Amino acid sequence: MADAEHDLVVIGGGPGGYVAAIRAAQAGMNVACVETEPALGGTCLRVGCIPSKALLESSARYEEARGGLDAHGVKVGDVTLDLGAMMRRKDRIVKGLSSGIDFLFKKNKVTRYLGRGRLDGPGRVVVEGEEPRTLRARHVLVATGSRPASIPGVVLGGRVGTSTEALSFPEVPGHLVVIGAGVIGLELGSVWRRLGSRVTFLEYLDRILPGTDADIAMKALKVLKRQGLTFHLGARVTSAREDGEGCVVEAEGMEPIRCDRVLVAVGRVPVTEDLGLDTVGITPDRKGFIPVDEHFQAAPGVFAVGDVIGPPMLAHKAHEEGIACVEFLATGYGHVDYDTIPAVCYTEPEVASVGRTEEQLRDAGMAYRTGTFPFRANGRAVTLGMAEGEVKVLADARTDRLLGVHILGPRAGDLIAEAAAAMAFGASSEDLARVCHAHPTLPEALREAALAALGRAIHV
Ligand code: FAD
Ligand code: NAD
Repeated sequence: MADAEHDLVVIGGGPGGYVAAIRAAQAGMNVACVETEPALGGTCLRVGCIPSKALLESSARYEEARGGLDAHGVKVGDVTLDLGAMMRRKDRIVKGLSSGIDFLFKKNKVTRYLGRGRLDGPGRVVVEGEEPRTLRARHVLVATGSRPASIPGVVLGGRVGTSTEALSFPEVPGHLVVIGAGVIGLELGSVWRRLGSRVTFLEYLDRILPGTDADIAMKALKVLKRQGLTFHLGARVTSAREDGEGCVVEAEGMEPIRCDRVLVAVGRVPVTEDLGLDTVGITPDRKGFIPVDEHFQAAPGVFAVGDVIGPPMLAHKAHEEGIACVEFLATGYGHVDYDTIPAVCYTEPEVASVGRTEEQLRDAGMAYRTGTFPFRANGRAVTLGMAEGEVKVLADARTDRLLGVHILGPRAGDLIAEAAAAMAFGASSEDLARVCHAHPTLPEALREAALAALGRAIHV
């Protein structure tokens, strides 16, 4: 006998799960969401996107107050850091946004079960927790997300931690070693450098930000080095452990490095353990992801979205998939345009991209034109005092259709939205160049890069 019956039971209350639950309720379904943690919002809200951006913002303000305003003729007296207050602000932001999702669940009449969800054969979900229950579900959506990966030889614990610990260090580490120069490493490494740490990166590849346009990543590396971050590229870490009051990190061909804390940021792995996937005939793939068809179906009546089905591991990609999956269920139609999912790394300057990189276009043998425009020639960037970086537009050499846009520069994460919208509507670089952009604004750099792809840039 089931304790309750629902049209849809969602396992996981992160960006994939909670958005799908709300959309399904809007479509008239009787929906429940099972989440282990008391706070809704998943990795993104609790220990990901939001707390990291709160600390990036606070640390940027601190750095600015410590001398970053001199050029503006603004002199600030003694500046001190209250790390506790900075962390409390971050925690308040997380709490407020998470209770916002509770409100949305109530508003949309989504039933919330606190506990661990597990599939128990077709159409059944067991909730394990203080109030165990068995739910009957016409459809089940698995959105259990991901957790930090580690590497052999690295002993996590104490002063050797993942992004979750690096969002709450109780003191500013004297020397922080970051294993992995991907998005997490660069964002959180930037936070702690701004707050006063010496930060050393050990990266296995010969570049940073894998997957990003190589030329833009190389330019980002130069800027980040100038800010005082130290990079050892081509460094394969073999061990990291606590040692006395600090830590020791070893990498092939290098002297061991002693430091105060280690941040392990070498990717994330899907969460599929003890989910009862075998009870409905689902076998995760070699990397642990749940294989799904074009309707996000993994087995009859069982669907999956978000980090647990594979990269890119981004909150907005999980949102898109959750909505599309539910719309398929409700109407027979749903859509995710994987070619126009933007990605942003919130360093200063930010790195943002949408569409294909030059390497991908070369590998595919596609003929393309490139247009670049430096922010030092953009009036708004110069007045902001943030004129490093450039916009790069890649357009089909034959049709002029936009194929990719890559930005290193101020507010790149906001600027990329225009490029994503243009690409979603199949725009050409001519289309982008013909749109009137207000002056002086940062998006003018996007227009100029589009003009450059046509050989007609005005301001360079
Ligand atoms: P998750 O957010 O991981 O949510 C899964 C939820 O399922 C969790 O709440 C978990 O508790 C719950 N769960 C798991 N198993 C069970 C079970 N058996 N029963 C019940 N509940 C269960 N992405 C961006 O787009 N922008 C960013 O700026 C960004 N910054 C990030 C910064 C950091 C430090 C990290 C770690 C990640 C960041 N990400 C960012 C990635 C983003 O957080 C993820 O892509 C996103 O959270 C994935 O959403 P999801 O719903 O698939 O999974
Ligand atoms: P990542 O894949 O971006 O980077 C991991 C890095 O670790 C890679 O450069 C890899 O070469 C390196 N590495 C792996 N093994 C190593 C070893 N033994 N020694 C040295 N280096 C090694 O992963 P991440 O930074 O951990 O982030 C995980 C995911 O979280 C990202 O892929 C992203 O999808 C998501 N995320 C997104 C944002 C954002 O959108 N702003 C922010 C944070 C996280």
